[in-house]
Amino acid sequence: GEIMRLDKLVASQFADVSRADVKKLCLKKKISVNGKLVARSDIKVSTDDEIIIDGKKLTYKKYIYIMLNKPAGVVCSTREGASMTVLDLVPDELRRDGLFPAGRLDKDTEGFVLITDDGELSHRMLSPKTHVPKTYFVRLEKPWEESYKDIMAEGMTIDGLREGDPEEKCLPAQFLASDENVCECTLILHEGKFHQVKRMFEKVGNKVVYLKRVAIGEMPLDRGLELGQCLEIMHKDVEKLL
Ligand code: URA
Repeated sequence: GEIMRLDKLVASQFADVSRADVKKLCLKKKISVNGKLVARSDIKVSTDDEIIIDGKKLTYKKYIYIMLNKPAGVVCSTREGASMTVLDLVPDELRRDGLFPAGRLDKDTEGFVLITDDGELSHRMLSPKTHVPKTYFVRLEKPWEESYKDIMAEGMTIDGLREGDPEEKCLPAQFLASDENVCECTLILHEGKFHQVKRMFEKVGNKVVYLKRVAIGEMPLDRGLELGQCLEIMHKDVEKLL
């Protein structure tokens, strides 16, 4: 384990607990370390020590990984005027300082957003070198065409975002038509250009009317997770995000 001050260790695990709070808890004899009550909060402890606060065992986690099923209407940017952000949806028991969404979905897109305080994992997951697959469920305005599969598999070109902007070349993407609904399909991307799914279907003459990210890497969005709800991802599963 890592050696650090007790107050720092405890405060790092909760957004609503400060070092001063830890000091008060010690004075009130509410914290024990390896079975002994501690009077001071500035002692050095190990992250492997058994720390019990008010009868509850603290399991230290250096980083936290949260799966959110983002609803439409919520933004991924962490400071944007009036809109609710994805961080507002993190429940108190998972909340801590330093959390941010690793990758963004549009305001009107639903589905899997990873929220973490692990900058290195986020960097690896989003790096254009890593090409982590992101899987999207798409509903189109008009029925899909068989031709989409090859066009998208080849690495298509999409229009720039504004008039006069140069075209952008996409990496090969996997288009999978639904066999149940002529307007539904799945698209797997290995990069994340701005509005990419929408722009790819626009380029082939269709339009996305509903979009949901259903997997990141090998990790599917939990089927039982309702819109707006969060789930902590176990550390042993984190590598599936890469
Ligand atoms: N592609 C889009 O167009 N929007 C998203 O939110 C994600 C991928």
